[in-house]
Amino acid sequence: MEARFVLLSGDGIGPEIVSQAERVLRWIGKRFGHAFEFSEHLIGGIAIDTCGDPLPQETVDACKASTAVLLGAVGGPKWDDPNAKTRPEAGLLRIRKELGLFANLRPITAYPELVDASPLKREIVEGTDILFFRELTGGIYFGPYSCEDLPGGGQRATSTEVYETYEVERIFRLAAEAARKRRGKLTMVDKANVLEASRLWRRVCAKIAKEEYSDLEYDVVLVDSMAMHLISRPRSFDVVVTSNMFGDILTDEASMLPGSLGMLPSASIGSSGPGLYEPIHGSAPDIAGKGVANPLATILAAAMMLRHSCSLEKEAVAIETAVKKVLADGHRTADIAAAGATKIGTIAMTDKVLAALESA
Ligand code: NAD
Repeated sequence: MEARFVLLSGDGIGPEIVSQAERVLRWIGKRFGHAFEFSEHLIGGIAIDTCGDPLPQETVDACKASTAVLLGAVGGPKWDDPNAKTRPEAGLLRIRKELGLFANLRPITAYPELVDASPLKREIVEGTDILFFRELTGGIYFGPYSCEDLPGGGQRATSTEVYETYEVERIFRLAAEAARKRRGKLTMVDKANVLEASRLWRRVCAKIAKEEYSDLEYDVVLVDSMAMHLISRPRSFDVVVTSNMFGDILTDEASMLPGSLGMLPSASIGSSGPGLYEPIHGSAPDIAGKGVANPLATILAAAMMLRHSCSLEKEAVAIETAVKKVLADGHRTADIAAAGATKIGTIAMTDKVLAALESA
């Protein structure tokens, strides 16, 4: 197939890790006979420095014309001034909006070789393999809000959770389709015992589950219970779908399960058009430029990009299998190495992934 990928390296370790994911994608293109094209564009702090805008129009246009976008990370102390006119993160929020990305997908995979780095016990975490679908463009983060001064002193602030049927339907169907391709289990998380918007989620999801996905094992869990279940029995979940705020909190909680930020990718997708793929970690300014960053989350994000934006499942699995082999063979960057273990750098880790692909 032909695909045009936009690379948005961004700041800090962004350029180091995106260039490594590009090496892997180029290898895949060559081996599987696909015509992949790459173009690099500006976002974040570097875009502010270069043209005063964290998301130049030229970047937006290139992303919209692409098959998919691979992002490194944005931000860093250089752009942290709270009085600054604009911030790198604004570029990230805007590109998600420009591309209409309403679903955020976060796989949480506990690799057996790294489980001892988890803050939880091995017997709880081992075998965890969850795919979260977080609604990304609605809910309380985008609902009406206000803050008013009260006559007797003090203030009253309001944030409003707003959802419409179509917003719930479209993400639920995406999650259900994914569950069908995985272990066939779908969990919807809400707070229907208290929130009206959650009661809408519950009605809409129950109807679609019954009418269109009766082959799935479907259940609903209250968000407060889910916060507990995630750390007591994470293995019992397959695909989880939830609203923007609950997803924000639960995915961060879940990201601690596997024990390393440097291993976790994510994807943001819409109904059609290009999706955005990125590692969940930030720009890691403390290690930027040192050649020690773990490139695996970005390489795994590239695998998600092939799966979700190009329907190249075989190629995605090839990358994921190579990453598993590299870990099983004991190769570690500093962030995932046990004390005293040999550590390799960003480029050497990618070399190992390429060697594993080559030998498969
Ligand atoms: P961070 O994720 O950048 O770093 C947290 C810790 O994890 C650091 O010690 C870092 O060295 C380490 N780390 C992260 N990724 C790693 C990797 N691939 N390999 C090895 N170690 C890794 O979070 P932070 O320090 O809170 O934020 C730094 C900057 O990144 C801030 O400006 C923040 O706003 C920004 N940020 C951006 C994104 C994004 O672009 N999506 C997400 C989170 C934070």
